Amino acid sequence: MKWLKRTENQTLLAILLAIAVGTLWPGITQFEVLGKIFLRLLKMVVLPLVFTSVFSSIAGLGTLRSFERLGLLSLVYYFCTTALAVFTGLVLVHLLHPAAPISFHAVPKLKSLNPKDLLLDLFPENMVRSFAEDRVIPVLFLALILGGACLQAREKGLPLKTLLDSLNETLLALTRGIVRFTPVGVFFLVGPLVACQGPSSLLGLGGYILTVILGLAFHATLTLPLLLWLWGKVSPWRYFLAVREAPFLAFSTASSSATLPVTLEVAEDRAGVRPEVAGFVLPLGATVNMDGTALYEAVAAMFIAFSYGLSLGGTQSLLVFLTAVLASVGAAGIPGAGLVTMTLVLQSVGLPLEGLGLILAVDRFLDMLRTSVNVWGDLVGVKIIDKVLARSGSF
Ligand code: ASP
Repeated sequence: MKWLKRTENQTLLAILLAIAVGTLWPGITQFEVLGKIFLRLLKMVVLPLVFTSVFSSIAGLGTLRSFERLGLLSLVYYFCTTALAVFTGLVLVHLLHPAAPISFHAVPKLKSLNPKDLLLDLFPENMVRSFAEDRVIPVLFLALILGGACLQAREKGLPLKTLLDSLNETLLALTRGIVRFTPVGVFFLVGPLVACQGPSSLLGLGGYILTVILGLAFHATLTLPLLLWLWGKVSPWRYFLAVREAPFLAFSTASSSATLPVTLEVAEDRAGVRPEVAGFVLPLGATVNMDGTALYEAVAAMFIAFSYGLSLGGTQSLLVFLTAVLASVGAAGIPGAGLVTMTLVLQSVGLPLEGLGLILAVDRFLDMLRTSVNVWGDLVGVKIIDKVLARSGSF
């Protein structure tokens, strides 16, 4: 069968099979280690890849002017789409008004987040330690400023650029090797998860789950494709078919960061995005641009408010809107990160952090969905930005 020869189709099949096997055979949890090995391989390449791809992309731009254009366009795209996602979530949650009778199974122990700490976290205190501690955001920042500095250094910076370009290509070749195992890895990630959590954890929170799913579906199948079509002049369906492996993997890993090597690979190799654009927009997007997470945070905060019998007014809804955008920017691309940064949203409108206990049981499942939307949002963005820059003749 020709259809089954493609890794992306095998990956989809592996997800469906894993759901069936995980439901019927709890013993699959014994093989969880195979999924974990696959995840480790991906995580192993992420940090160096973030560094080399962002650095090479900026150092390859030629001028600081092009860097500014690319950076500005990316930020505009990230902000507009995240705001649209939150808006969709807020409209839906007000229409459907989901609420749950309050009964806490587990109260999460979460320390409250402080926007100042989030800001401080951006800046590396020690270049080497940021790598050793596996911290993506300071590494990203480092790559941005070093890439810019390399441009400034002109021909003196060229040997460093050549070296990091070569490391970047080598890491991408390694990624291509790891990607061949995606169907197997995905099977052993999703199967044990379904066996452990089971569909029963989804009961009782139907209205909330439905609101998040409808919002994510609206954003992923209408808003983003429309932008791609209007702004990027690309057929959304054809583009999705070319890059679908990345959202599938995002669903299985619930991590934008772990998916990043594959996101880069599909964008460059299968969708023809120029490496200097993909190398900048995608690593940045994987940490900054999280449409799915932002939408979920807004819906979840409102759901918690409704469950406590509160109804938030216009100013408070605006606060939820703004903090949900901010909290999604601050969320790392790892499983459950959105749940942690949601403390920001709850605090902004004075909702008790214990409210998170209400949604904990279904968080992993919704995390898988919102991460797919996060990655799809990054992929739509990179194509639009690539097209817009090419049309304007910037580079
Ligand atoms: N897991 C999400 C991601 O990696 C972040 C979140 O928890 O919403 O994109």
